[in-house]
Amino acid sequence: MRLDGGGMFGVVPKAIWKRLIPPDDANRIELQTNCLLLQQGDRRVLVETGCGDKWTQKQRDIFAVESRTVVEALAEKGIQPGDIDDVVLTHLHFDHAGGLTRLDQDGHAAATFPNAHIHVQMQEWEDAKAGRSTMTGTYLHSNLDPVADQIVTHEGDSTIMSGIRVMPVPGHTWGQQAVIVETVDGTLCFPGDLLPTRHHIGASYSMGYDMLPWENMRTKQGLLSSAADKSWLLVLDHEPGHPVFTVRHQGEWFELLESDAG
Ligand SMILES: [Zn+2]
Repeated sequence: MRLDGGGMFGVVPKAIWKRLIPPDDANRIELQTNCLLLQQGDRRVLVETGCGDKWTQKQRDIFAVESRTVVEALAEKGIQPGDIDDVVLTHLHFDHAGGLTRLDQDGHAAATFPNAHIHVQMQEWEDAKAGRSTMTGTYLHSNLDPVADQIVTHEGDSTIMSGIRVMPVPGHTWGQQAVIVETVDGTLCFPGDLLPTRHHIGASYSMGYDMLPWENMRTKQGLLSSAADKSWLLVLDHEPGHPVFTVRHQGEWFELLESDAG
């Protein structure tokens, strides 16, 4: 998809961010909605669901939403939506929660993953239901109401299952959570919109969409410090290139290093 570059870089001047990612004629930059499939035994966990496909052509044009959905990506791995046991979402903005529902034969939004528990922070669920955001069109009832009885809320640090846990990373929203996965190759962290692309590593590179920019900066510092000290792999949710990185201390801040993993 493509979003406005100014929105994506908040207080950073265009003269600087346009050198990192050149915008198109509509001032938009290219992004992806990266999702993770985790498998443990016969249990399948999906992290994030992308934008889904309940889009009019006009909306599709505004955000340049491409047609490949997470359902198609799963099918490429031989996995049907009914095979997913758990869905973990960092937060419920449309480009993360849109894939939770799809249109049925009658044109009504219905659950995409009918057998899954859907894990979010209690704070995020409450804010989404109440529409608490500076963006009026991001917490959409069509993404949320049909799956309300599948939602499992968490308060603070919580274990989804052995080896998969979530932790609050407030800033982009009050209730955003990161996903931490222990694998045989080490610890993997999916920080959501705390660090959407490789170009958001800098301290002041928050987004115009962040509810709490200062808190976001402090949360990012804490997470990057953990990632550097504990050799975590980071998987970035909107990075359009290879989205897997490690982190190291660099002066008073941090830098990302591309990882071969994944
Ligand atoms: Zn978001």
